[in-house]
Amino acid sequence: MGDMNDSLDDVRTAELSGRLDAVRGRLDAAVASAGRPAGSCALMVVTKYFPADDVRRLLTLGVRLFGESREPEAGRKVAEVLADWSPADVADVPVFDMIGTVQSKKARSIARWARAVHSVDRPKVVDALGRAARVALDEGERAEPLGVLLQVSLDGDPQRGGVVEADLPALAEQVSNDDALTLRGLMVIAPLSGDRKHWMAESARIHNAFREQYADAVELSAGMSGDMEEAVEAGSTCVRVGTAIMGERPLLSQ
Ligand SMILES: *Cc1c(COP(=O)(O)O)cnc(C)c1O
Repeated sequence: MGDMNDSLDDVRTAELSGRLDAVRGRLDAAVASAGRPAGSCALMVVTKYFPADDVRRLLTLGVRLFGESREPEAGRKVAEVLADWSPADVADVPVFDMIGTVQSKKARSIARWARAVHSVDRPKVVDALGRAARVALDEGERAEPLGVLLQVSLDGDPQRGGVVEADLPALAEQVSNDDALTLRGLMVIAPLSGDRKHWMAESARIHNAFREQYADAVELSAGMSGDMEEAVEAGSTCVRVGTAIMGERPLLSQ
């Protein structure tokens, strides 16, 4: 990547580098103050609405886990990044997860590039992703089943997506019965109103109860730029950080 590194060694890279260091510092401090082992919470950088060159810049800074939220932007960006990426070894290959609302008709595309989908909240979406992942496995487009995290709604507001706690078991059963899918855990987005600590404690309670039934569903994807610390305290295994690293998203971005 020699030439590419040189051309991306610019003002934007310096900016990303500074913010990334700050967020890594916040995350390490939060993990330590929660009494958890170092490295026990992954940092996902959310690159939605930002160009492939920013993903390339982050690769030069050691980032390997990215979150994207919409098609066809995500599929195109991943293809662009992987086309000129030559990893030193297989363990070094960047990983992209889908964190946005899934439209069933986009499942086929998502199953080509996503390691996991964090935002699964409806039987119809499970069905579509299961079928799409099966085709992708059969066509050699992916090597592993598609990971699934069920998005939990903490306040029952249908606008923000997610399934309420009472409906989790049925959805989990549907995922478990599909061998093209692997149930990895739960995802939460804290509601805007109310106390962050309260919502994160609620997330931890729901996740702990869920794991009594689904012991392998170890992932709790929780925490964003504004509530990383509370999420880590509550046992998050993956924080999804956009703004604090990338800067403000373009205005039209939701
Ligand atoms: C955009 C997005 C994020 C990142 O949010 P920031 O506040 O910018 O860090 C995290 N999770 C989901 C599901 C998102 O859509």
